[in-house]
Amino acid sequence: MNLPHNPFAQADGKKPTCMEMLQVIIDGEATDEQQEYFKSHMDRCLPCFKSYDLDMAIKRLLKSRCCGGDAPADLVEQIKLQIGQNTAG
Ligand SMILES: [Zn+2]
Repeated sequence: MNLPHNPFAQADGKKPTCMEMLQVIIDGEATDEQQEYFKSHMDRCLPCFKSYDLDMAIKRLLKSRCCGGDAPADLVEQIKLQIGQNTAG
């Protein structure tokens, strides 16, 4: 299957994984092109859609709870577990 040019592809032509693409998006470092590509990718990729939803929910939670400060990693894990349980299945 010939996919359109992947703006996440590395210089050496290595195909990025879903996790790598997600990471760029979640970090807020994605270009417009990358965001567009990922949006259409999410339409076809349920794991990406769920992870994106989850990470955005965590970001909102952390912002409201910690006023934008750095959150401890275990808090993030806790939230992920809680949300994961709610959306599992
Ligand atoms: Zn994906």
